[in-house]
Amino acid sequence: NQDQNPRAAPTVCPYCGVGCTIEYAGNGKATGTAGPVNTSGEVCPKGVAAFDMVAHEDRLTEPLVREGGRFVTAPWETALTRVADALGEIIDHHGPDAVEFFASSNCTNEENYVFQKLARMLGTNNVDNCARLCHSSTVAAMSERLGAGAMTNTLDDLSETDCLLVTGANPAEQHPVIFRSYVLPAIRNGATLIHIDPRETDTTDAADIHLDVRPGYDIQLLNSMAKVVLDEGLADESFIGERTTGGAELKAHLRDLDVVAGADVAGVDADAVREAARAYAKADRAAIVTGMGMSQHTSGTDNVHALLNLALLTGNVGRPGTGVNPLRGQNNVQGAGDVGALPNVLPGYQSVTNPDARQRIADEWGVAPPSEPGLTETTAIHQFGDGVRAAVVFGENPAVTEPNANSARSAFDELDFCVVIDLFETATVDHADVVLPGSSWAEKSGTVTNTDRRVMRMRPNADLPGNARRDLDILTDIGQRLVDQADAFDYDGPEAVFEELARVNPLYAGMSYDGIGDGYQRWPFPADADSGTDVLHSETFASGERTAPLLPISPTPPADAVSGDQLVLTTGRALQHFNSGALTRRSETLMRMRGEDVLEIHPDDAAARDIADGDTVVVESDRGSVTVSAAVTTTIRPGVVFCTFHYQDPLANALTGDALDPVAEIPEYKHSAVTVRTA
Ligand code: SF4
Repeated sequence: NQDQNPRAAPTVCPYCGVGCTIEYAGNGKATGTAGPVNTSGEVCPKGVAAFDMVAHEDRLTEPLVREGGRFVTAPWETALTRVADALGEIIDHHGPDAVEFFASSNCTNEENYVFQKLARMLGTNNVDNCARLCHSSTVAAMSERLGAGAMTNTLDDLSETDCLLVTGANPAEQHPVIFRSYVLPAIRNGATLIHIDPRETDTTDAADIHLDVRPGYDIQLLNSMAKVVLDEGLADESFIGERTTGGAELKAHLRDLDVVAGADVAGVDADAVREAARAYAKADRAAIVTGMGMSQHTSGTDNVHALLNLALLTGNVGRPGTGVNPLRGQNNVQGAGDVGALPNVLPGYQSVTNPDARQRIADEWGVAPPSEPGLTETTAIHQFGDGVRAAVVFGENPAVTEPNANSARSAFDELDFCVVIDLFETATVDHADVVLPGSSWAEKSGTVTNTDRRVMRMRPNADLPGNARRDLDILTDIGQRLVDQADAFDYDGPEAVFEELARVNPLYAGMSYDGIGDGYQRWPFPADADSGTDVLHSETFASGERTAPLLPISPTPPADAVSGDQLVLTTGRALQHFNSGALTRRSETLMRMRGEDVLEIHPDDAAARDIADGDTVVVESDRGSVTVSAAVTTTIRPGVVFCTFHYQDPLANALTGDALDPVAEIPEYKHSAVTVRTA
């Protein structure tokens, strides 16, 4: 785009939660530059291609308003007035809970803070971000048991561990700089790598033990490992006695478990389960890295509970080189939750029901937030057109990423009003009444929080295209039009927002914008501390308790039962693309590397259906069907097929179901019953 004026300034990669430092390279590309995480300046292909979408000709450069069924460009004043009038009218007639706010895990802490403040000052806690779809179950289990839903340890710690249990994650492709800079050094130092995943991936290639678990049967596997630990006297009884409660109940729960039968149900070899349990429990320092293979199930919260049992039984929490470490997907999915873009918590994960926290917020904002938890985005969609009449979608693309996507798209059409703030005409924009052109990663300042709790600064590398505006300016403008206390949205830039955020978020209390500078500050950073805390839970768990509970966990079957000749579809990501693909599919480089999706299918399943490698196949579930090329490969276990959700065609989420985990309301992306046949 001719209106872009690129320049180089160290900032944070817009894609995964690693948080690599990148800057404009002077040749239409980004380049890695030594930063807090990628200390050697290394980046992956997405980082190199990060500038491709910034200057893309498809960028939205003018506000769009729908007139007579089609979009026309409009001045900002017209578009913002329409947004304020429509939302104001719906709130007047139906109350503030008639609006759902979709925050953005891909935008800054300051933008997300202002976004959730807007929702709450309007009178609703109906604000959520796409952490709901990836790690909400991890956060639910870890917050309840440990007191924080983030990596307990640091990336540097991972390279110090003696045993790494990677479960439901593929860091070699999804967090490549973590894999190369932190996991491989641990392996070079002699650490054992155990990989639990139904696929053989690049991560598996580096593993000593691979447990190719059946999707949906992780609890049987993890309980069997815990049983081996107890039977063989490998539990850390002094840690259990001093730092846990409920040990007797968990031991009684597992007493009659048959490891061979448990392994059989999980689809893995019992000897391999024993070998993995021994390697994990005997290591001086054993760390768990967990991903969406664990979290994206109707039993996602219980899966993580079973994983936490393993860590607590063996005393692998609260010390360097140990811990439970969820790898976060988007570059600010950690921060979006930290600043309160969730329906049940205020900034700093303070419950919306906590009177002290609500009072602190009221002192700052001049109005208290509502005290009832709001709707998650996955539940709100089922109420579109009924209790929920409007949606404000900020930098997310739910028409592609929500489960049962065809149904979700129809639901958006039931709304009285929908406004989308984004960079491109995404699939969600098709269902909007007003579209506001926002700012990309390269056109803004602010902070983001990476997967190991580091808050880092972003800096602009380019000017905004056309009449696009900075997201923070758009949000504060809407706030000033809609909220009675308009000066609550009068900020002199992101630094002023960060200062307010640090005042109301105890986890960020000791941080400052200047203090972050070119480096980082890690939470929790108390007001009176010199620095943040690297290793969590060395002294305390939830609510300041010295002990964490051990919990008996029983398996529940996946919601979408497989019958007849059906296979299990499990979805995920590829190295070259990111989430809905709205950004990475606009990179020629990345599209050359991976231009289309394929369905991975085992040779036995392919032969049973007369499917050859490269054949076009129809994949069908109760929700919908897609057409895609088959990739016949032994790297997927029999009975399971895999594709990504990066593409509009095939739209993987046309197949997935919208059954939810009862605690976290996360969908079951990792287990959908499908038939597969040649087209
Ligand atoms: Fe960006 Fe993640 Fe790649 Fe680093 S590893 S360059 S943060 S996508």
